[in-house]
Amino acid sequence: MSKVLIIGAGGVGTVVAHKVAADSAFTDIMLASRTKSKCDEIAKAVGTNRIQTAQVDADNVAELVALMRSFQPDIVINVALPYQDLTIMDACLECGVNYLDTANYEPKDEAHFEYSWQWAYHERFKEKGLMAILGCGFDPGVSAIFTAYAAKHHFDEIHYLDIVDCNAGNHGMAFATNFNPEINIREVTQKGRYWENGAWVETAPHEIHKPLNYPEIGERESYLIYHEELESLVKHYPTIKRARFWMTFGQEYLTHLRVIQNIGMARIDPIIYNGVEIVPIQFLKAVLPDPKSLGANYHGQTSIGCRIRGIKDGKERTYYIYNNCDHEVAYRQTGTQAVSFTTGVPAALGASMFARGIWRGEGVFNVEQLDPDKFLAELGERGLPWVEKFDIDLEL
Ligand code: NDP
Repeated sequence: MSKVLIIGAGGVGTVVAHKVAADSAFTDIMLASRTKSKCDEIAKAVGTNRIQTAQVDADNVAELVALMRSFQPDIVINVALPYQDLTIMDACLECGVNYLDTANYEPKDEAHFEYSWQWAYHERFKEKGLMAILGCGFDPGVSAIFTAYAAKHHFDEIHYLDIVDCNAGNHGMAFATNFNPEINIREVTQKGRYWENGAWVETAPHEIHKPLNYPEIGERESYLIYHEELESLVKHYPTIKRARFWMTFGQEYLTHLRVIQNIGMARIDPIIYNGVEIVPIQFLKAVLPDPKSLGANYHGQTSIGCRIRGIKDGKERTYYIYNNCDHEVAYRQTGTQAVSFTTGVPAALGASMFARGIWRGEGVFNVEQLDPDKFLAELGERGLPWVEKFDIDLEL
């Protein structure tokens, strides 16, 4: 029986609130964010009186500490932005609260993310007997748990790992991002990077691409990009010779992205406009559609999984494990599209695993370090069923 504090009232926070409210592992729930009215709207949409709401600036450790001291949660689910990871972890350490997030820390003034900042908290969490669970969305999150499951049950050694992420949905807008536009554009416009033979290989943005076939969807052009779980997976599975991440983009999306970059709207440094300091990408976020609003007209599916080649009992084997999620089904359940849904369901389930004592540890953990079996046993009934295929052509 646990008290949970959810921080962030966006698309992912909405899904987490729905799922946590339906989970008897949690006795008390608080949803806090920068704008309290958004928390109130979500609590109303969930339709129970189990969710309390509060205003908090998660960039401010003192505010977080005051909130945690008054509510006394057992665990915080951080679904605000990656910029807030470290302040929330600091407050957790000060108040003796466990921690879970879905995206690794990224400084606001540098479009760069890596785990080193959060891994540096390991000893402090351990000394306090607290657990921090990093990257428990879908990717990162289920992608790493799928890899852990493959390593535990189907391979003696994983040699080649390709995480494939397809969004074949159509929201009817000329251009919109599926999660926070600022974070999304920063992620997809950076250089590509993959792991090969013990070193990182860098590519120009979207330089490497190929058509891949996705189940129930068909062929989609897929682009090699850098994604954060590659860093922790090659560390925890040293037998991996090559690890890559592929994401599908439509031509229209890429054209918009190129224009946005070429005209300077993806800039993250402040400029002065009419005597006021603005950051172009933050202004762009304000005029783009809110990802939460896309759900009502979103049709089609996402398909995210791991294509793995390695050795079992001395023989080479291939393996594909994936989930397909329908935007309309996600919308019916939580009023959000599938990208928020596929992130929020694993975050709520991960916190539930902690609350029920199934995932426990002292220190900072990536999800692949935790037992995948019970998590995957429940993932389907919580809305994200998964499929395995053996000894097939992986196309990669
Ligand atoms: P949104 O932008 O929709 O929501 C973010 C929420 O955080 C908003 O409610 C926002 O408040 C709040 N927030 C931002 N800054 C602060 C602050 N300083 N203090 C308090 N609250 C704050 O984002 P999403 O819901 O789309 O994404 C949430 C997280 O999930 C992100 O970190 C994203 O990277 C991650 N993610 C992970 C994925 C995965 O598979 N692992 C996939 C997709 C997303 P306000 O409403 O006032 O702006």
